[in-house]
Amino acid sequence: MTGHLRIVGLGPGPEKWITPEVSEGLAEAQDLLGYTAYLDRVPLRAHQQRHASDNREELSRARHAIELAVAGRQVALVSGGDPGVFAMAAAVFEAIEKGPAIWRSLEVTVLPGVTAMLAAAARVGAPLGADFCAINLSDNLKPWALVEKRLKLAIEAGFVIALYNPASKARPTQIFDAFAVVREKLPPSTPIILARAIGRPDERVTISTLADADPALIDMQTLPIIGSAATRLLKRADGSHWVYSPRRVEVPA
Ligand code: SAH
Repeated sequence: MTGHLRIVGLGPGPEKWITPEVSEGLAEAQDLLGYTAYLDRVPLRAHQQRHASDNREELSRARHAIELAVAGRQVALVSGGDPGVFAMAAAVFEAIEKGPAIWRSLEVTVLPGVTAMLAAAARVGAPLGADFCAINLSDNLKPWALVEKRLKLAIEAGFVIALYNPASKARPTQIFDAFAVVREKLPPSTPIILARAIGRPDERVTISTLADADPALIDMQTLPIIGSAATRLLKRADGSHWVYSPRRVEVPA
């Protein structure tokens, strides 16, 4: 039997945000691999084997998934959100590039999921309605100086910015450094969205301005969205706000 590796995205949390294609891919799998917290969200069927691993072992997990598929198994490797956004798909292709030539014959399919920034944006309006970018704030795989440089240049370019992996127990202070950069470059009135645990029971979304935003509220389950100078806070009848970034950009003549 020919093996197949499916790299699937579970979305940010709730079952209803899992695509039918991902559900089918999970049902067809003989082996399920992933970080324990993600695998816990997948019902285990009688014919399936579960291989849970620690969050940090991405490359070895990728190799394990590839080896099983090369041996003829139907394998699903799961990520939260979308598997191509700061997640397992890139680890798999990195492993294939470094691995034996036979791995390049493997059938690999990437099944997309709803990534955190899209779910977060949908909660508050349309903050990503104009040009935006996503920056992984972790310096595990790149130097912090480069993170700061990209943040500065993205702000200068006028992008709305979604920040993934903004903080962790091992990196509690970098989000404060990142906010210092943002405060240097953007006006205090810039809208800031802190979207935490979107789609999960403990979801919490705060909309504020750069003047009021508190980086101490940001943890590893948070997706901050930094507005651009053009992003608007739109006051609703009940005093709460929508946030949107206008599609049209007015360039001074
Ligand atoms: N592949 C995932 C991202 C992995 S990086 C995706 O596409 O969403 C992990 C980071 O994503 C977290 O640190 C957090 O910043 C963000 N994130 C993931 N799920 C989230 C959720 N439900 N709510 C808010 N942020 C989330």
